[in-house]
Amino acid sequence: MVWDTHKMNHIRIQRLEMVQVAMIPREPHVAAHGTIAERPVILLRIWDDDGAYGWGECVAFPTPGYLAETVDSAWDALVSGIMPTVHNRRFESPDELADYLAGAAPRTPVAAATVEMAAWDMVARRQGRSLSNLLGGTRSNIATGKTIGLGYEPHELAAQVAEARRAGYQRIKIKVEPKTALSTATEAIRAAADIPVVADANASFSPEDIAPLRQLDAAGLAWIEQPFPPASLDAAAKLQDSLSTPIALDESASSLNTIRRIIEMHGALALSIKPGRLGGHSVAREVYKLARNSGLSLWIGGMLETGVGRAHNLALASLSGFNLPGDMGPSAEYWARDVIAEPLEMVAGHIGVPAGDGIGVEVDTEYLLRATLRRHVVS
Ligand SMILES: [Mg+2]
Repeated sequence: MVWDTHKMNHIRIQRLEMVQVAMIPREPHVAAHGTIAERPVILLRIWDDDGAYGWGECVAFPTPGYLAETVDSAWDALVSGIMPTVHNRRFESPDELADYLAGAAPRTPVAAATVEMAAWDMVARRQGRSLSNLLGGTRSNIATGKTIGLGYEPHELAAQVAEARRAGYQRIKIKVEPKTALSTATEAIRAAADIPVVADANASFSPEDIAPLRQLDAAGLAWIEQPFPPASLDAAAKLQDSLSTPIALDESASSLNTIRRIIEMHGALALSIKPGRLGGHSVAREVYKLARNSGLSLWIGGMLETGVGRAHNLALASLSGFNLPGDMGPSAEYWARDVIAEPLEMVAGHIGVPAGDGIGVEVDTEYLLRATLRRHVVS
């Protein structure tokens, strides 16, 4: 008898094991919303009755601001609500699990995504196919962009950009703030030569103050990312009307409903998709279809993930409509040591989509055990 593995979509989670680890970035990450010197990360592993397993990662940061959910609030939501409610419950597919979680945990999509994404990984592993394949991905390599934080002197910035260019990155993103945006962008574009440069304001401009953005318009940026606060969609749409540089939204692209509004208002020409922020792969794919039908450009954003979250992102990024270079660099760019056994490497500005079962990477469980700060098990 030949099993039709593609139909083995059902999920019944028999065991969930969650840990929090402290990841040490290779160097502190500086953006308009703050500096990150240590990155606590929640990782979750689930198992079904047959011993199939999957990994998920929570993208929340330790403090609110970028996201409303934090590491602690997500941990609590997982322990007190999400983990017990999915335990031993049967779902016919990852999409059905995602729908259930959207109803059961509507205010904590970031926490819910941890379980949802682990379930996708588990189903793909059980079917003996890559998550990329299960999600409908077609590409085996993802173009990668480099992000350079705030706080560099012009000559340091130029050196960083030149180094990124030599390393083969396909796009350079600089973090900017209003006072220095123009000089930073001009310096970066000069040093980047033929590589596209993007300016990410992380919502640091005020909708009342568009003069510096008009100046930026003439600088030759590939796009301007998230100039205004996340809820200022009208202002973004108005700005897009008056600039020739495309506006991209990241912080604003936080839910399916908001993304619908952005598309209706023509508030941006590009969006950053982060499955761990949207509630998981299922919602991310809905957003993907919507945005693609509306002609928006898309890329997969980064949340300083470990190799687990990054492998999830690579699988999703393999869908052909993610037509802009992603924010995902190689493991070594971020961490003194990653939690996965084989670090994700970059070749000529591209990272290979792991071809193994599921997310295609294995966690170094011995190292994980040593790095674990707290642990919660439901079985
Ligand atoms: Mg951004």
